[in-house]
Amino acid sequence: MKKIFAVLLTGVLLVCCGCGAEQAGQVRQIQNVDTAMGTVISQTLYTTGDETETAAEIMELLRKLEEDVLSRRLDTSEVWSLNAAAGSAEGCSLSDPMEEILEGCLEIWEKSDEAFDVTMGPVVSLWDIDSWAAGEKEGMFAPPEEEQLQNALEICGSGSLDIRGNRLYLPDGAQLDLGAVGKGIALDHILAYLREKDEITGAVISLGGSVLTYGQKPDGGCWNVGIANPEDTASNVGILTLEGEWFISTSGDYERYMEVDGIRYHHIIDPATGYPADSGVAGVTILAKDGFLSDALSTACFILGEERGLALAENFGAEALFVGKDGSITMSRGMKAYYHSGK
Ligand code: FAD
Ligand code: MG
Repeated sequence: MKKIFAVLLTGVLLVCCGCGAEQAGQVRQIQNVDTAMGTVISQTLYTTGDETETAAEIMELLRKLEEDVLSRRLDTSEVWSLNAAAGSAEGCSLSDPMEEILEGCLEIWEKSDEAFDVTMGPVVSLWDIDSWAAGEKEGMFAPPEEEQLQNALEICGSGSLDIRGNRLYLPDGAQLDLGAVGKGIALDHILAYLREKDEITGAVISLGGSVLTYGQKPDGGCWNVGIANPEDTASNVGILTLEGEWFISTSGDYERYMEVDGIRYHHIIDPATGYPADSGVAGVTILAKDGFLSDALSTACFILGEERGLALAENFGAEALFVGKDGSITMSRGMKAYYHSGK
């Protein structure tokens, strides 16, 4: 058995962002790289101020969101409490922001023909690709037994998300997993934070495969965001040239995976089968004006594949670009205005 593990921390490559702190007229550039939410966080900030705490405050914001709200691994988070109460008749109290997140997830679940499903926790845990790919597990990786998979699948399904009177009632064994939207939600919070900071004139923030562009470059030029080539993630298949605020999210089969006997088992699961999605797509990039939406749609479109994915993205007013396993590139009509091959 051949064991290959890889944790690729960015689905997008930032192009033309520069390094370190630079002076450009009155505007200083601050560059910061750190980790949170199990991924690399890269910040490029342009500021007219002389404060250096902005990057640290953004990291603090991310860690607080992870610890208090989104994490499935930390017992301090709201998601943890909701999962711990699964099966209880009393359910668990639901914060207003979490109710809004779950309502948003339910809408995408419905419109994606149930492909996008944040109740896939039991199946995601059974595969545990994150831990295998990070090299945290001992022994040889093997796909779960079919019977175990079917049993776990039976517990899943957003149709059983029961929200009543600011409480969530989950069935016994059910587990929420917001891994497909967490980074997009975090970018929405970062945008709100940046808007309050007058001295920040521009920024590119990358949380693994999800990116926010904000404001302007000092020279007035556009933001260039590269789309990783699934075959060779050190290169890209093209560049998106963007002005102002955008959210760009990429989901790919190269982000976290294990390979056994030439078969790649990655981290995005098709709820119809319980197996890693196999729609002929190697990577999907979504361009949208909302972080939650861009992250959710990149995952959903990866599972649905080109044709159904394009229709879903269009339904939400987002742009989509698909890189097929054969290297082909398909995109929505609107995406063409921002994309160039870079060749
Ligand atoms: P996306 O396509 O955006 O999401 C894929 C993820 O969505 C899967 O990993 C799974 O969790 C979930 N998923 C799978 N199938 C479906 C489906 N059909 N519908 C909906 N969701 C699905 N990783 C670690 O290794 N260690 C950590 O400590 C860690 N902490 C995290 C804390 C937070 C708050 C969040 C949000 C994520 C954390 N992660 C951690 C997960 C890691 O960052 C994931 O790789 C990431 O969330 C997946 O993002 P992606 O862009 O690769 O793929
Ligand atoms: Mg996603």
